[in-house]
Amino acid sequence: MKIVKNKSLCNYTSFRIGGEADYFAEVNSNGDILKAVNFAQKKNIPYVAIGNGSNILVNDKGYRGLIIKISNINCINIEKDKITCSAGLPLSKLLQEVKNNNLGDIEFLIGIPGTVGGAVVGNAGMKNKHISNILYKAELLKSNGKIIEVDKSYFGFGYRESNLKNNKDILLEATFKLKKISKKIPDKITKAVIKNRVNQPIGYSAGSIFKNPKSMFAGKIIEDLGMKGKKKNNAQISQIHANFIINLGGAKAADVKYLINQIKRKTMNKYGIHLEREIRYLEERGWR
Ligand SMILES: Cc1cc2nc3c(=O)[nH]c(=O)nc-3n(C[C@H](O)[C@H](O)[C@H](O)COP(=O)(O)OP(=O)(O)OC[C@H]3O[C@@H](n4cnc5c(N)ncnc54)[C@H](O)[C@@H]3O)c2cc1C
Repeated sequence: MKIVKNKSLCNYTSFRIGGEADYFAEVNSNGDILKAVNFAQKKNIPYVAIGNGSNILVNDKGYRGLIIKISNINCINIEKDKITCSAGLPLSKLLQEVKNNNLGDIEFLIGIPGTVGGAVVGNAGMKNKHISNILYKAELLKSNGKIIEVDKSYFGFGYRESNLKNNKDILLEATFKLKKISKKIPDKITKAVIKNRVNQPIGYSAGSIFKNPKSMFAGKIIEDLGMKGKKKNNAQISQIHANFIINLGGAKAADVKYLINQIKRKTMNKYGIHLEREIRYLEERGWR
């Protein structure tokens, strides 16, 4: 494992935005994850784990600590209706394995461009299906170096939320309990989900910026405010789906934040609704 200094995070986020991290390690095994954590603790600097960087906005000044990019994809184990995999495994690979083994009930994750770790931590999903519905157990690295096995109650899951967003645990592995299904069903479901995704904007983004308020759609609220297509420098509220902000090329985190703040302010003024961010801000000193 190599730990590099002053690494730009721009290419490690789907937004293609972000300053430099003081230290950066891409880790491919649980042993290396532990080594990276030890490195940060010895240096007395903070650390955060990231997966595919598809749900985060890294600020323009970067991060004053160690970024641990979780790229461990080596473990995939299937036993009857359960599949266990490493946290760094892309969801697309997990879906492929599931399909090859005639398992199902996971198709709602199609098209989500993250890792298993990021999906569990953010309880990723679509409509009313969430990854927490299928999580059976997980293996975590605690900040004291201990590896523990937990069941899903440990995570305190909510809508795009889990306790792991607020502690230093690193997810190493997850086991999902799925349904055994006949060969024909997956393609039918897959097509339906893909149809849903066709309307999604193309370009550098982090997916939905805001959570949907109860019984409402954030995208519809923003559209009704007349903000579709509004720009701040090279950041633009998508013309296709108003809950997406697109980096047209060279946008800064400050530009995206400007648009986010405008949307929040206008939504509060016009509807009295507090829009809650779904994406996470990584600031110089940590998550916000
Ligand atoms: C085009 C597009 C479409 C999207 N559609 C959806 C959608 O339909 N539904 C949905 O829910 N999301 C969607 N997203 C958002 C994003 O893809 C998901 O939230 C995804 O699960 C994030 O995974 P990641 O690996 O990129 O996590 P990252 O963005 O890297 O990290 C997200 C959070 O997880 C933490 N984390 C990541 N890995 C670990 C680990 N191993 N241990 C501890 N903490 C970890 C990070 O610290 C961070 O807090 C979309 C994004 C894009 C760009």
